[in-house]
Amino acid sequence: MKEKFLEHFPQAKVKFDEALSSYSYTRTGGPADILVFPQTIEEVQAIVSYASTEELPFMVLGNSSNLIVRDGGIEGIVMILTDLTEAQVQDQALTVEAGARLIDVSRLAADYSLGGLEFACGIPGSLGGAVFMNAGAYGGEMADIVSQVDYVDRRGNLCELTAEELDFAYRHSCFQENGGIVVRVHMQLHSADQTMIESRMAELTQLRESKQPLDLPSCGSVFKRPEGHYTGQLIQEAGLQGYTVGGAQVSLKHAGFIVNIGQASASDYLAVIAHVQAVVKERYGVDLETEVRIIGLDNQ
Ligand code: FAD
Repeated sequence: MKEKFLEHFPQAKVKFDEALSSYSYTRTGGPADILVFPQTIEEVQAIVSYASTEELPFMVLGNSSNLIVRDGGIEGIVMILTDLTEAQVQDQALTVEAGARLIDVSRLAADYSLGGLEFACGIPGSLGGAVFMNAGAYGGEMADIVSQVDYVDRRGNLCELTAEELDFAYRHSCFQENGGIVVRVHMQLHSADQTMIESRMAELTQLRESKQPLDLPSCGSVFKRPEGHYTGQLIQEAGLQGYTVGGAQVSLKHAGFIVNIGQASASDYLAVIAHVQAVVKERYGVDLETEVRIIGLDNQ
């Protein structure tokens, strides 16, 4: 499989049997058979089309900040889009390739005195991952500003969807069902005073730093907010802060986060998640659904 891939894509930036723990924000995760970093959207299309013809499993990752990759790793082809970062600004519209870091995109908007992306200044994902998740914070979310998405379908065709077609909802977009790979995002922002934008971003950064355990590896909020409850509060009141399996621990600073305090494995993370879900269900009758995406194979 690997030799054949190289024959087809001799110029590809590729690694074989590469541990995904080197890329994931939790610092956990097994290897990818083929880990490739496409340099252009055309290359994404060619790889998807090849995988589809060869019937190889494939998946795309962004900045791996909302992921737990199981310890057995991922079979087939994994694409990381972080080299796709081209950006264009025209009037109040921003068009950026999906591998750009959301933090850099919000900075770029501020540089052009464009408001609307301040909420995103501390979200460590890629733009594509942020669309996939409809990432949001402090009252803003991607759905507020995305006007169109260009994506590659499961056969390698370049397609587009308008905002109305993206089925955005709380931490949800249509890409969670249709398997499309977001490659370029069109955003509609508004003119604003640069000092105001920057002071809002500074305020949100300070809030984040005061509440979140940013000094330790994590995948952000592990669970979605259940209707009528605050996740962190439920976990805290259930006495679960500090609960530890191996190197994975319910954060002492923010109960909605699970931090890697040592050499955590993905199985440690999954054991902590299962325990938290079971205790919260038993105490409060509330089902905690994971926001973090759990992918890959268990260790054989
Ligand atoms: P990844 O983790 O790489 O992938 C997540 C999912 O998206 C996977 O299923 C992957 O297959 C899919 N995906 C990635 N890129 C693409 C693409 N181009 N096309 C199609 N599918 C794709 N999230 C919030 O919403 N708000 C917050 O305030 C927030 N704060 C965080 C703070 C910390 C410290 C951390 C570690 C995480 C935080 N997150 C937050 C979670 C995370 O940053 C977001 O969910 C982000 O949108 C994930 O983007 P990513 O590129 O890292 O995606």
